[in-house]
Amino acid sequence: MAREQIVLLGAPGSGKGTQASHLVKEFGYNHLSTGDLLRSEIAKGTELGQKVQGIIDAGNLVDDMTVLELLKANCDLENKVYIFDGFPRNGEQAKLLEEHVLKGAATKAIYFDMDLEHLIERITNRRVAPKSGEIYNLLTRPPKIEGKCDVSGEDLVHRKDDNEETVRNRMNVFRDTIGPVLDFYESQGQLVRLDASRPSDEVTKSLKEVISA
Ligand code: ATP
Ligand code: MG
Repeated sequence: MAREQIVLLGAPGSGKGTQASHLVKEFGYNHLSTGDLLRSEIAKGTELGQKVQGIIDAGNLVDDMTVLELLKANCDLENKVYIFDGFPRNGEQAKLLEEHVLKGAATKAIYFDMDLEHLIERITNRRVAPKSGEIYNLLTRPPKIEGKCDVSGEDLVHRKDDNEETVRNRMNVFRDTIGPVLDFYESQGQLVRLDASRPSDEVTKSLKEVISA
């Protein structure tokens, strides 16, 4: 059974969601992706969903407190062990997560390090299954039947923000905001860096070593 809370850090498309699903299956973590939570609000057509849709489609960040509240509403830290994916995204969110959610809980922050240029191709070829959470890549992990999820059979979706223009903006936002997040976890002695440019199964192997250490 998993012990420490995990914070996954890395650029869009660096493999956070894909690797999180391995850890959920093998170690019993709960996966908490703020991007997935926000997209589900949009799909349900809630007030929050309507407020954030344009921001997400443009590849910009939703305001810190809105995302924090959504995260808190979906989190039960006393009883569960989480993989935080997509939060924190800037220095302020790193502080908010510590003060309002983690509150001193044992935590490892794992940074999926890779060259941003290679990510554009990864992301534009990504297709996702919103219900099962499976993530495909037309080049490296195609579905068995075109356009359908192997697990649930549902139609695969090309995320609206996974087009090249928006992806470039998401990369710029990431480049501009990640520094203080890494500094925060480094100063707490909680940061581990992984080379995320390697094939997915090699990254999984390193990740398991980090988590079991
Ligand atoms: P990935 O490619 O791994 O899914 P991503 O960072 O591009 O990574 P998501 O994490 O799914 O995509 O987030 C999608 C969008 O949701 C972001 O571009 C942003 O608009 C919004 N978002 C998600 N998490 C946050 C956050 N912590 N703070 C502000 N906005 C957020
Ligand atoms: Mg993701």
